[in-house]
Amino acid sequence: MSKVAIIGAGVSGLSMANYLEKNNIDYHLYERRTQNDLKGHGFILPKEGIELLSEIINIDELYKKGSFLKKYIHYSQSGEILSEKDLDDVFVVSRSALIEILANSIPSDKLSYETTVTLKGFSHGKADILIDDHAKLEADIVVASDGSRSRIRRGIFQDENMKAVLENEVVNIIENEELAGQIENNFLKFHHENGGLTFGVLKLSSSKILWYCQFDITKFFINEEYTPDCIRQFMLDHFGNWNPLVSSIIEESGYENAHIWRVYELEKLNPFYHENVVFIGDAAHPLIPFTSQGVTSALKDSFTLTDLLNKENDLEETFRKYEEERRPEIDIHIKNGRTLLQQFLLPLNEQPKNTLPISYK
Ligand SMILES: Cc1cc2nc3c(=O)[nH]c(=O)nc-3n(C[C@H](O)[C@H](O)[C@H](O)COP(=O)(O)OP(=O)(O)OC[C@H]3O[C@@H](n4cnc5c(N)ncnc54)[C@H](O)[C@@H]3O)c2cc1C
Repeated sequence: MSKVAIIGAGVSGLSMANYLEKNNIDYHLYERRTQNDLKGHGFILPKEGIELLSEIINIDELYKKGSFLKKYIHYSQSGEILSEKDLDDVFVVSRSALIEILANSIPSDKLSYETTVTLKGFSHGKADILIDDHAKLEADIVVASDGSRSRIRRGIFQDENMKAVLENEVVNIIENEELAGQIENNFLKFHHENGGLTFGVLKLSSSKILWYCQFDITKFFINEEYTPDCIRQFMLDHFGNWNPLVSSIIEESGYENAHIWRVYELEKLNPFYHENVVFIGDAAHPLIPFTSQGVTSALKDSFTLTDLLNKENDLEETFRKYEEERRPEIDIHIKNGRTLLQQFLLPLNEQPKNTLPISYK
């Protein structure tokens, strides 16, 4: 029996495993995807996230895979500069690179891929959990890091209300040296004059760029087949006549790896624990992408929880302190995220000046 069972090997589950490994606390990590299924987008990481990562990974490895951003430049769709701000150690990296680095330091016998975990109920204060619908999982503590639409969470808090956020995203990472050469290490964001439509570009390396669009789902509709052709058409229809940098990126991109993100949030957060189950990362608190704080918050959850597990013997007290410590900051990010969402929906002439697309506490 492991002391700790971690469910889900996204950034939060993997960072938890790394902190437990460093602190010699016994654990096992279960992940339903295959080891090589590393689809996804990229992360903007504020300084605090980099500092937390430095404690568990060789940070130079990460620096080789992404880049620091010097400035945030906000443009209109035609390319007129609306505002510029220096960025203090904000880093951008692809999700797959970060996940791979975090997974590298977990011994292979402590990480099972293609393994789905299901919560069946509780008996004697402990979760009854099944692995792949047959074997019983025995653990003193269950760390649920199974993402924003956590089934474990919904199994426990059945009244929760998960609602669609008005904004969805298309995210793509492309390899194109010529286009990458046209942008410096800045975070560029173009905004439609009527609001509710933006295009962001970030340089990952000398040959790779990450781009994304954010769209108001009440005004813009994407064909739900989500094929590369549908996504390409959507991008051409809505961004084809924007500034030449935007339109050339749209036209020259491949769309095989483009990803659509339907964004959801909890109307009201649940408690961060129940009996011997504790939630971290998006499973505890889905944050809308405008905050750029999902990864850093997941890292802080893992760090705080591991620290308390080291200090406290009483489980209920450990979990209570964990929630007490983490909740106020999460509440701020949720509030800031909703404010940034409202600003995104506004026409440009009503936008506040000089706001960063990052939530700071
Ligand atoms: C469009 C978009 C842009 C974003 N941009 C940023 C950004 O710039 N910066 C930032 O910091 N954050 C960003 N975020 C948020 C960030 O992606 C998350 O906060 C972060 O990845 C933490 O994820 P997680 O590990 O908690 O969950 P996830 O990454 O969702 O991982 C959950 C894992 O659990 C596994 N799983 C689920 N159920 C089971 C089960 N029953 N059994 C076993 N395994 C299971 C899944 O396969 C998955 O691997 C963005 C999010 C979106 C949607």
